[in-house]
Amino acid sequence: MFDPAPLARLRALAAEDAGPISVRYQFARDEQGRAVMEGHAETPLPLLCQRCARVFLFVVRADWRRVFVRSQADERDLAEKGVDVCYHHGPLDVADVVEEELMLALPMAPRHLEECESVLRPLAGAHPFAGLAGLLKRDRHNN
Ligand SMILES: [Zn+2]
Repeated sequence: MFDPAPLARLRALAAEDAGPISVRYQFARDEQGRAVMEGHAETPLPLLCQRCARVFLFVVRADWRRVFVRSQADERDLAEKGVDVCYHHGPLDVADVVEEELMLALPMAPRHLEECESVLRPLAGAHPFAGLAGLLKRDRHNN
């Protein structure tokens, strides 16, 4: 478990207090001796549904494999090959990487996956497009 408190950028995106973040990661070296970090993080994040404007818990999951390089030539070279690469020197803040990966895994327009109290939802029993037909008719009258 991971204390989410320092992850200010991620917390700023949450509609309510964020829950705990579970994180697994390991470091290794590739054939060239570069540091490789493989990780998985997930957290239930309260987000505002963009369809019904209600807060819901979205489980954000991120899996990554990043190569850390100390030269910008290496960075360019690997990036061109489609490798997730970071130019980096000095001590690495794992929390920063976790936060960035979780933010990248966030949906652009978060919304309930299933049940959604949509503002556009028709009344029970009504034909789903009955309201729409009314709108279209009204529109035609106006033209
Ligand atoms: Zn919704």
